[in-house]
Amino acid sequence: MEQRIYFDHAATTPVDKRVAEKMLPYITEIFGNADSPHAVGRTAMCAVDEARDTIATLINAQPSEVYFTSGGTEADNWAMIGGALAKRKEGRNEIVLSSIEHHAVLSSAQRLEKAGFTVRYLPVNEGGMVESSAIEEAVNEHTAIVCLMSANNETGVLQPIDKAEEIAHRKGALFFTDAVQYAPYMPIDVKKMKVDMLSFSAHKFYGPKGVGVLYIKSGVKVEKLVGGGEQERGMRGGTLNVPAIVGMAKAYEIACAERAETNEKLRFLCTKFLEELAPIEGITRNGVGDNVLPSVVNLRLDGVENTAFLFNMDLNGVCLSAGSACASASIKPSHVLTAMGLTEKQSKESVRFSFGKNNTEEEILLGARLTAQFIKKLR
Ligand code: PLP
Repeated sequence: MEQRIYFDHAATTPVDKRVAEKMLPYITEIFGNADSPHAVGRTAMCAVDEARDTIATLINAQPSEVYFTSGGTEADNWAMIGGALAKRKEGRNEIVLSSIEHHAVLSSAQRLEKAGFTVRYLPVNEGGMVESSAIEEAVNEHTAIVCLMSANNETGVLQPIDKAEEIAHRKGALFFTDAVQYAPYMPIDVKKMKVDMLSFSAHKFYGPKGVGVLYIKSGVKVEKLVGGGEQERGMRGGTLNVPAIVGMAKAYEIACAERAETNEKLRFLCTKFLEELAPIEGITRNGVGDNVLPSVVNLRLDGVENTAFLFNMDLNGVCLSAGSACASASIKPSHVLTAMGLTEKQSKESVRFSFGKNNTEEEILLGARLTAQFIKKLR
């Protein structure tokens, strides 16, 4: 493939070579079905057990609290729907979630609404953050589950999950956080975070696509979503994707070990990029402050239609996106940016740059130069 500059790491990341190497034998020689009782199957199950132990240790959980899924989307659906349905047995029929959740969570809420739940959406302030007063107002003794993502995928803004957890538990509800964007950059300690459920996905931290984890705290009742065999302690049917599970554990191990170094580099690249663009009028960062992931810069480019901008950048070898990859086929303005108070026009003038550990300073400088060039051209 021709050399491209890739600034879309919030959508996905390339698989780290060390991860690919670790996975390879499980695609070829160690191909067994992990649930087969014979030696080939048992070898595969040993690798799954090892991966589960690694992830559990890194998030301070028990291995029995780690469930492998087909990714963040499935984990989010399971947490929301499985958690709400289990809690309804206690007579609770309301759910609370932020208005800026990923579509995996939003669509689960819509399904729950059709199943008779009342759904309450939390607004965000103009910085893109949910305020505790809004959570306090929305959660009550009928709430089954409160969901607040740890970090937003379009703006990178970190959310007050500690407050949401405290309020949810004080009112007797479950607390779930989607940590898909948070996990690559911020440490996860499920005990300290006191979450009932937490989801994350390997392809955001240089692991394979199609594998994720749902952490479910021991003792928390959640209905199963994917029925079938007795895999994952009878809670999630389906033959285990052994190479992907092994790859996820390796990728997360690397992400945790190299986090400080990666974050420092990303902060440097973001600062450099913003400095380069500083002289240009009419650029506003969506989601500001210290409370943003080190990798994401969401910019509003006044008078520049984002589809035309992205097209020009792509033609010149730079890959980036307007926001969520899952919604990029949609012509609707971003629900995240409109929740922050941007007009439809402003939302359609916004672009997300998400940098990664392999980006170089030269790429940042070239990306900034092309950005400046196309802003000028398209205005
Ligand atoms: N949640 C968030 C915040 C995300 O950013 C994404 C993917 O972009 C998902 C969930 C879905 O994860 P997956 O792509 O693994 O299904």
